[in-house]
Amino acid sequence: MEHPRNLPWKKTKDPYTIWLSEIILQQTRMEQGTPYFLKFIAAYPTVQDLAQAPEDEVMRLWEGLGYYSRAKNMHFTAKYIANELDGVFPNTYKSIQQLKGVGPYTAAAIASFAFALPHAVIDGNVYRVLSRYFGIETPIDTTKGKKEFSQLANKLLPPQQAATFNQAIMDFGATQCKPAQPKCVNCPMRSDCSAYQTKKISFLPKKSKKIQRKERFFSYIVINSTDVVFLHKRIKKDIWQNLYEFPMIEHTKLLSGYELEKHPFFQQFLIGRHFKIVQTSKTYKQLLTHQKINALFFDVQLKGQYLNEIKDEQEQLVTVPKEDINQYAFPKIINNYLADYWEKEMQQLSINF
Ligand code: SF4
Repeated sequence: MEHPRNLPWKKTKDPYTIWLSEIILQQTRMEQGTPYFLKFIAAYPTVQDLAQAPEDEVMRLWEGLGYYSRAKNMHFTAKYIANELDGVFPNTYKSIQQLKGVGPYTAAAIASFAFALPHAVIDGNVYRVLSRYFGIETPIDTTKGKKEFSQLANKLLPPQQAATFNQAIMDFGATQCKPAQPKCVNCPMRSDCSAYQTKKISFLPKKSKKIQRKERFFSYIVINSTDVVFLHKRIKKDIWQNLYEFPMIEHTKLLSGYELEKHPFFQQFLIGRHFKIVQTSKTYKQLLTHQKINALFFDVQLKGQYLNEIKDEQEQLVTVPKEDINQYAFPKIINNYLADYWEKEMQQLSINF
């Protein structure tokens, strides 16, 4: 291809670097993922460096990228390679695909880019180019569609030039045959492109389903004193696993201040103590792939001498000095709240969000 994209991980054949970039870029736009890749490769230049990093540090570096199970799987895999495989990256498609967090797409990318193995990489760009050029209307989110596109891409792939072919077709999709307003006017494939000839460009590729999002409602209790705050680590198998948040009540709707005070979870550690809800935030929203999160933050102030006595039943709360709060990794919705409501306070404590 004459105009390849100049991406920092493309100049290497190091499987660790390629794997790291592919994990970071899963379900993430290139512009968003690139600064994270640069941060990670600077902090952890080798798989051993990543394997030895504390989990909280990895999560903190990942903060804001979403899909946090990726970070967890990535850290697990780094430890597996460093400890069980003596730091040597697997070098066959099958063994690469067995790594946690690595699916067919990522395995094909590592196999072809790092080891020159003949496996077609099929990302959104490739689906788009193939469906338009060949006029394929099979929905790409069906088993039948995935199989059909995979067979076609692997048939087109020149075995001796797998990496070049994969990179070229992805770059072509990203820069020329773009989702909206593809550059058909100067496209060298125009005369043979089925979608161009039949005016079906905007209909291809096809998808079968609309995403159904489950709506969830989180009422956060920001227990606040002059110098400390309570946080809770999300350890359950759910969204945002291993990130921190304020103690929270999930309900079928957002709670009012009155409903909050009556709730058993709230009463469990605050009943009988002198507290006051001094502020209720606006409603915050965050869209995830399959969920819509609504959150409200109640700023609850209470007298300092009680703070050390407070514990929830699972003892998952941690008391954090306010000036250390930026050492914890939070979901985006909490960072947005902190930026809005705590900015002044944090500036006084010389903390930058
Ligand atoms: Fe894509 Fe347009 Fe080129 Fe067809 S003519 S391959 S739709 S850019």
